Amino acid sequence: MTDDSRQRDRRERMVASLLRNGAVRDPRVVAALGKVPRHRFVAPNLIRDAYGRHALPIGEGQTISQPSVVARMTELLEVRDTDVVLEIGTGSGYQTAILAELARRVYSLERFPSLARRAIARMRELNVLNVKIQDFDGSGGWPEMAPFDRVLVTAGAPALPAPLATQLAPGGRMVIPEGSREEQSLAVYELDAGGNLRRTDAGPAAFVPLVGDYGWESG
Ligand code: SAH
Repeated sequence: MTDDSRQRDRRERMVASLLRNGAVRDPRVVAALGKVPRHRFVAPNLIRDAYGRHALPIGEGQTISQPSVVARMTELLEVRDTDVVLEIGTGSGYQTAILAELARRVYSLERFPSLARRAIARMRELNVLNVKIQDFDGSGGWPEMAPFDRVLVTAGAPALPAPLATQLAPGGRMVIPEGSREEQSLAVYELDAGGNLRRTDAGPAAFVPLVGDYGWESG
């Protein structure tokens, strides 16, 4: 078995298990998870574990989220192929690449320059062209690129950062973990055409903290 076919095999088993557990249903999300080479988003010594059920370290004390979390967040976001998406917390860039499969354009922010640099290099290697990644505090969003049809926050916030709501397009949707530094619940916000923001709760989550002006203090 070549290395590539071994990884494809592991990826197919990961997707089958996500389908079995009900973590994912949307065929477009299933296809994206089956396509993006997750093993290319971890360090060489972790490649064997890349398709396992766990979060893995990616440097700077941060992690690549476990497959079930990426699947669930993506499913909740309901991305359409015409959407412009803002992601806050690029990390490894794996979730970013999944979003890039589904959306028209993805903007992604990462506070650690080293992680952003690595994610940019991966996008280039994998020929993902509809993504722009930058390294600054994304807790206030990215006003220059707004409005966004979809906003995905992949770090836990103490509460909804006020600027994010103002950067959502009418009909827009945002998924964000809200709660304490250790545990959060996944909030889904929808902005209707009349400008009303509706919040629903999509269950418990545990993300690394969103650190920044509209998030937690570092440390
Ligand atoms: N989806 C990513 C998750 C990485 S963990 C993956 O699966 O690889 C969350 C990331 O959010 C971390 O890399 C962390 O550094 C980043 N982060 C935390 N606060 C941030 C902020 N205010 N702006 C941008 N990135 C932030």
